Amino acid sequence: MLLKRLRDTMARGATPEETLGEVVRLVANEMVAEVCSIYLLRAGEVLELFATQGLNPSAVHRTRLRVGEGLVGDIAAHARPLALDDAQRHPQYAYRPETGEEIYHSLAGVPIVRAGRVLGVLVVQNRTRRLYDEEEIETLQTIAMVLAEMVAAGHIVSPNEVQQVDGLGLLPLRIDGVQLTPGIAIGHAVLHEPRIVIQRVVAEDVGLEHKRFEEALGGVRDDVDRLLEADDMQSGEHREILETFRMFADDRGWIERVREAIASGLTGEASVQRAFDDVRTRLGQSTDPYIRERLSDLQDLTNRLLLRLTGRVAVDPSGLPEDMIVVARDMGPAELLDYDRARLRGLVLEEGSALSHVAIVARALDIPVVGRAADVLSRIEPGDPIVVDGDHAQVLVRPAEDILQNVHAAIEARVERLRKYAALRDLPSATRDQARVGLFMNAGLLIDMQHLDETGADGVGLYRTEIPFMVRSEFPDVDAQAWLYSRVLDVADGRPVTFRTLDVGGDKVLPYVGAFGDENPAMGWRAIRIGLDRPAMLRRQLRALLQAANGRPLSVMFPMIAEVAELLSARKLLDLELDRAKRRGLALPERLRVGVMFEVPALAWQLDSLLPHVDFISVGTNDLLQFLYAADRGNSRLAGRYDNLSPALLRLLHFVVEKVRPAGVDLAVCGEMAGRPVEALALLAIGVRTLSMSPGAIGPVKAMVRSVDLNEATNFLSSVLTRPDRPLRETLRLFAADHAVEI
Ligand code: PEP
Ligand code: MG
Repeated sequence: MLLKRLRDTMARGATPEETLGEVVRLVANEMVAEVCSIYLLRAGEVLELFATQGLNPSAVHRTRLRVGEGLVGDIAAHARPLALDDAQRHPQYAYRPETGEEIYHSLAGVPIVRAGRVLGVLVVQNRTRRLYDEEEIETLQTIAMVLAEMVAAGHIVSPNEVQQVDGLGLLPLRIDGVQLTPGIAIGHAVLHEPRIVIQRVVAEDVGLEHKRFEEALGGVRDDVDRLLEADDMQSGEHREILETFRMFADDRGWIERVREAIASGLTGEASVQRAFDDVRTRLGQSTDPYIRERLSDLQDLTNRLLLRLTGRVAVDPSGLPEDMIVVARDMGPAELLDYDRARLRGLVLEEGSALSHVAIVARALDIPVVGRAADVLSRIEPGDPIVVDGDHAQVLVRPAEDILQNVHAAIEARVERLRKYAALRDLPSATRDQARVGLFMNAGLLIDMQHLDETGADGVGLYRTEIPFMVRSEFPDVDAQAWLYSRVLDVADGRPVTFRTLDVGGDKVLPYVGAFGDENPAMGWRAIRIGLDRPAMLRRQLRALLQAANGRPLSVMFPMIAEVAELLSARKLLDLELDRAKRRGLALPERLRVGVMFEVPALAWQLDSLLPHVDFISVGTNDLLQFLYAADRGNSRLAGRYDNLSPALLRLLHFVVEKVRPAGVDLAVCGEMAGRPVEALALLAIGVRTLSMSPGAIGPVKAMVRSVDLNEATNFLSSVLTRPDRPLRETLRLFAADHAVEI
């Protein structure tokens, strides 16, 4: 009701003074308070009484308190509410005779805050010594929030009257985003400011402008060539990305457009901007990830040219902190590399996805990145202390000292844990009672392969071939694919790699193919369904795999198999390619293993007819759980609703284990579940002996494996699996605690 009245007051078009007067009257009424006052922050760290009901009206605009002075100043300084039954006895109380407030004893005040910034303080007072309850404080906070919006919008005071004071009253903030790369880092914010103001628009000498542009273009090409020469850019997708970027600088169409603009009389810089604006106008609305990536690459190139043309440097290192956390709306891949790598600690983006070009480059540099962090640019000030926590997909801005200490401790603990896991690297992955457990890693980019040595994984249990397809600008031909797969096998150096054929569709969109318009993409035209309907595409991939193996052992896995016939058709295509390779005298794989992903529940009832045709089955629990529970795996509102430690999933998996084992077919689990120690413990206990997971999970899972007695765990699980009365996760945790299993 109160909020509605506030809105009505504003809608009446009253003057700012009338509006504020009405606000304090309404709030006093609502709170049954004799006094309600609003203090707003003015330049010079001063809180000024702007409106009051109950105090002497003549005190308005006269009573002023410094931030930190008196109770009002205290509320602003700490940006936290205060409720006192006897305010006058508080050590911070500062008596202001002009207000006539000596008769009021109790006081409650809340800061008026917007985007982490204190704009003022809202106070109520009563004669009696009363204690304001939590609900009342919450009401005040809600009103303060509305006031903050009104102040920010300039509805109640002109923005000139309340000046925001930099660095004052800034609150700690936690901003949630998504993990683009894992890890945790502490540093100071550097706001990436790519915008360059163009001063000269009209050319005085067209010939000279042409010359300036050509020089700038040559300079940019040289810059990118230098970036490409750096040691950490020598191979992998990040290099390819940078090379594609470099090709932009040779794009005839775009360069012609700039030249035409110069010929029409614009300066070099205005022409570059104009050419970019044209493209952005045409493509800016697109949500297509490929086009968005191209636009950010083009923006990066435009900025580079503008910097050269206006004589500025990309990143001026003077004054930048030693521990930089770069904060940007979005970025091109080369822009990140402009920052000094020795000082770069982390990256925060308002946009971005795990496969955006800048994220892949950041992954190669091994710095944590949090993306899709809402409004970070307006909520973070340059120089703010910041924690980028890629592991938990959050950014802590201006954290309090105790939080910082905790983070330092967490970083140390992480380093310690990594040391411990590194020490496990060469130790066997076997349980206390000597059951051997295969620990493999999942990979998708060539960069990921470096983790094979680091983690001591047995091999790659799931190589998602669609990932390299997704970061490319066009569909790779057979040779390009074969090159990539053979590099993967080279790095694996004899350790097995299971290549899964293209699993596009669903949430994985190929930029150059686009979404298929499926109403329900996860259950739509995806993975093997596309492969069988477009056999030429699948055959080309199989051909590339055979070419890459070039006689070495090869494992091929088909995704989303729902019926045995699908596998048989896919195998036929593989046989055709084997024949083709044979006819051409190519070395055939020394050992060829063919398997399927078990992601569609229907397959559980076809195992008898499936098993004779496969060498292995790998369970994709990410999709399996979503289909089993009819719960979209990407829907944040459903996240955590259905536990993958539910008896339903475990019993289904147990059933599969029991069917597969006697057939002599290998069984692995490669969904996210396999990489979580508690879940992995349950999987071992139902009989799974091969797990494939993200590289970071290998250490923790190995620690669990080495500390468990599998016999005990198996007996324990079978005794609780049929008793759905208690949450299994809790029961397993208790078991682990009782038996010193490291989870
Ligand atoms: C799965 O579904 O569990 C799986 C491993 O495949 P993806 O996550 O690539 O769909
Ligand atoms: Mg899947």
